[in-house]
Amino acid sequence: MTAENINLIPIQDFVTVRELATMMNVSPINVIKVLMTNGIMANINQQIDFDTASIVAEEFGFTVKTEAPEEPEPEDIAEQPVWRRIIAEERQENLEPRPAVITMLGHVDHGKTSLLDVIRHTNVQAGEAGGITQHIGAYQVVHNNTPITFLDTPGHEAFTAMRARGAQATDIAVLVVAADDGVMPQTREAADHARAAHVPIIVAMNKIDLPNANPERVKQQLAEIGLVPDEWDGDTMVIPVSARQKLGIDDLLEAIVLIAEDLNPQANPDAPATGTVLEARKERGRGPMVTLLVQNGTLELGDTLLIGEFYGRIKAMFDFTGAPLKSAKPSVPVSVSGLNGIPMAGDQFRIVESERAARKIVADLLTEKAVEPDRHGVSLDEFFARLQEGETKTLNLVVKADVQGSLEPLVNSLNKLSTEEVEVEILRAATGNITESDIMLASASDAVVLGFSVDADPAARVTASNEGVQIQVYDIIYKLLEDVEKALKGLLGPVYEEVVIGRAEVRQIFNIRSVGVIAGCYMRTGVARRNAKVRVIRQANLIHVGSVSSLRHLQDNVREVRTGFEFGVSIDKWNDVQQGDLLEFFVMSQTEQ
Ligand code: GDP
Repeated sequence: MTAENINLIPIQDFVTVRELATMMNVSPINVIKVLMTNGIMANINQQIDFDTASIVAEEFGFTVKTEAPEEPEPEDIAEQPVWRRIIAEERQENLEPRPAVITMLGHVDHGKTSLLDVIRHTNVQAGEAGGITQHIGAYQVVHNNTPITFLDTPGHEAFTAMRARGAQATDIAVLVVAADDGVMPQTREAADHARAAHVPIIVAMNKIDLPNANPERVKQQLAEIGLVPDEWDGDTMVIPVSARQKLGIDDLLEAIVLIAEDLNPQANPDAPATGTVLEARKERGRGPMVTLLVQNGTLELGDTLLIGEFYGRIKAMFDFTGAPLKSAKPSVPVSVSGLNGIPMAGDQFRIVESERAARKIVADLLTEKAVEPDRHGVSLDEFFARLQEGETKTLNLVVKADVQGSLEPLVNSLNKLSTEEVEVEILRAATGNITESDIMLASASDAVVLGFSVDADPAARVTASNEGVQIQVYDIIYKLLEDVEKALKGLLGPVYEEVVIGRAEVRQIFNIRSVGVIAGCYMRTGVARRNAKVRVIRQANLIHVGSVSSLRHLQDNVREVRTGFEFGVSIDKWNDVQQGDLLEFFVMSQTEQ
């Protein structure tokens, strides 16, 4: 090959500034400068024609040649981030660009919080409302006239918990990797989570100030987990930074702006406001304060919010500096007061006409909930039905095994089960017990968790039951593969599964001589039934599973207690229930083929 051949770049009739820069491996800024000297003012996403591209390419020692257009790949809308789905339902002419929303992910102590703090302090003036800057769960900075929204609860737990609740707020993930420590287990996990969410990743290589920082080794490790640095012809921007010495922060923001321009997130500011709860807490004298991220539409002071079972008129609205606001457009985080309860992070909000309308919706919702608990995961035996209904083409799996030696052959065999009609996609394959993080990943992506010669942590079991994720543990590889294969072909027999019918909290304990211990409870959601089973959860730990032995409302024995009522329950052959415990009532039901 001659030197000239190496410098040939294939383009069709048009190419964007960014694509041209990438092909020449130069900064888009330099391409823009050359265009300017030729009298063309272009931004990074602008298309330039073949002739202009040849002039620019020549400046960098390249020659352009024409290329036959490629067949465009069909886009699978179900695979797209949530906001793309939101805008897919909006008319094109109503859409306007909105700021990108960023989350920091990465291993503990690699500097996520420090970076968030530095970006906030170097880019945000002290709050206008008397210099108050408070953490409300998100903030905005402006870099080169481009606003960027940062979610300031770092870590993939929050990220994935939100996704599991159907709310993907993040557009771009910044994966923080300490230059001295390198890629660690949670770095890998975070990358899996971001990829499963189809969110682009920028790497912030932090702590480059440390004498034992080893950037080359970190880049090598990143390449090994599929994040090949752009300077090695890969797709991942790796930005060296130091939160401590405030180095590289502008470069990181610049990288975010570049990726954001490429992504071009949009929303319709004129639609009724919808979005996600980022944080919620009770504040003295003010009642519930809720931080919301507006994702579509414009939120106005005085609007009536509906969030799950809570609602209320927005009495006051503030930006992240504490300054009062009258309205908030897409990607703007606000904290509001006026809601009648504390929703959970990741809950979606919408606007309804009046508090009266909200009350009616909530009443309907609570009766529905009693029959149909929230379900996110998919089970192997359900998968085929969903396949048949055209709801899915992919069986997502999270695979855990005891040792690397069994994981590798397992993953290879599972991958071979993919057919033309249905694909097996392994979101995570790792060694070790099944953890809560595995369940959250599975929940967020409707995946099944398969374990080989491993156990599930108790917290993972509780979360799996709450989220409706199926865990299947095997000690024979052949059996595991056989079940997956059967699921793909719809050959699995009926199985019984637990269906959660309600949740109650224990408020008081009564010790009654003739009867034993009775837990005085408040039914938070769903129903409790005399013939149900019950799980006792204490501070996220599963303490006991048993049967209900009596159910009482006031003085009467009853068969059922509904949401909002107080009641007494005793648990068969078990007396250790405590105030503050959470009781989860469930029944066994045969799943349909
Ligand atoms: P997180 O767990 O990822 O949020 O990490 P933190 O932001 O809490 O940082 C963990 C520790 O690393 C803290 O002691 C920070 O002071 C320190 N740290 C963070 N960034 C840097 C940096 O750029 N250089 C050095 N030397 N230390 C840092």
